[in-house]
Amino acid sequence: MKIGTRVIRAGLPEPEQGKPFSEGVWFASVFHAAGEPSSSPYTYGRKHNPTWERFERALSELEGGIALSFASGMAAVAAVFGAVLRPGDALVMPSDSYYTARMLAEGFFTEIGVEVRKAPTAGSGLAQLLEGAKLLWLESPSNPGLDVCDIATLAEEAHRKGVLVAVDNTTPTMLGQSPLAFGADFSLASDTKSLTGHSDLVLGHVAVEDVAWADKLRSWRTNIGAIPGPMEVWLATRSLATLEMRLERQCRNAQAIAEYLSTHSKVKRLRYPGLPEDPSHKIAARQMRFFGPVVSFVLADRAQAEQFLRECKLITEATSFGGFHTTAERRARWKGDAIPEGFIRLSAGCEDGADLIADIAQSLDTV
Ligand code: PLP
Repeated sequence: MKIGTRVIRAGLPEPEQGKPFSEGVWFASVFHAAGEPSSSPYTYGRKHNPTWERFERALSELEGGIALSFASGMAAVAAVFGAVLRPGDALVMPSDSYYTARMLAEGFFTEIGVEVRKAPTAGSGLAQLLEGAKLLWLESPSNPGLDVCDIATLAEEAHRKGVLVAVDNTTPTMLGQSPLAFGADFSLASDTKSLTGHSDLVLGHVAVEDVAWADKLRSWRTNIGAIPGPMEVWLATRSLATLEMRLERQCRNAQAIAEYLSTHSKVKRLRYPGLPEDPSHKIAARQMRFFGPVVSFVLADRAQAEQFLRECKLITEATSFGGFHTTAERRARWKGDAIPEGFIRLSAGCEDGADLIADIAQSLDTV
């Protein structure tokens, strides 16, 4: 079956006469569980929940592995770091990866004796740091710079050196790109972004092929308590079914916006992996099914970027990306990335593409 069919049907329960087509949410911390705990499928809400299972079944089908849902994307990042890294281990990660993941690595994990080695996503720097490392962390396309790396080649090189590989797949989602199929040991994402896409919840997940890693991650989740709320998971299950439709429209809009911006004299350093002239395009075209909703570009300075955002009528100034409303922000306001003050990260939504381009055009006219 094609991905558009699989995503709509992923995780659906077997048909049972008189049962709801789509089950409601289970709110439960306590289950009836007399006697031996193993005699009951459910005992306590921090360990398991039927609503998680339905969502995880869908994620597992789409990832091609065993997926576990977490309270946020950062809870998923922390679970992989926490399950894998021990004092004395080395972590290789992109210097341009999501800044909170870098902060966690260089804060807590450095403090407990993990060595963090960094190199840019693009180029051969990451491959040169693998000797003696425990984990290679990848994020492709990187947020917010939109550089890409060849996941399959890096995974092969890492495995030859005995290094595990994790891919933060937030920007493309598993529909846009399949890290486990490229040889990664861990595929993880912030599901707060495109995967759920309605800007109304915070979630994350990790998928693995190896049962032992799945067990370690599950016990990490249970013991740390980074569990998702059942309502969020239920909403996410609904949202997942429309992921392909949303992405298809968002990526078409992103491509049209990028093409428009590429002709504009005030726009510098435009990046979108879907543009044939983009430095990421060659690898992205091989590796990705969708080029993603995020476009980045640079205006002259902070004042010009702020003016652009202020003058947009349709495009909302907000952080995050992947939602079905178009948003944009001046990314340097967060200080975590090595980017110019005029850097704009724009996330294309599902509105009519011509309206979005008209809004961008009228706003650029004012700066
Ligand atoms: N990974 C990437 C690439 C992200 O962009 C984000 C959030 O922006 C995260 C992880 C963390 O996700 P969350 O905000 O759901 O904790």
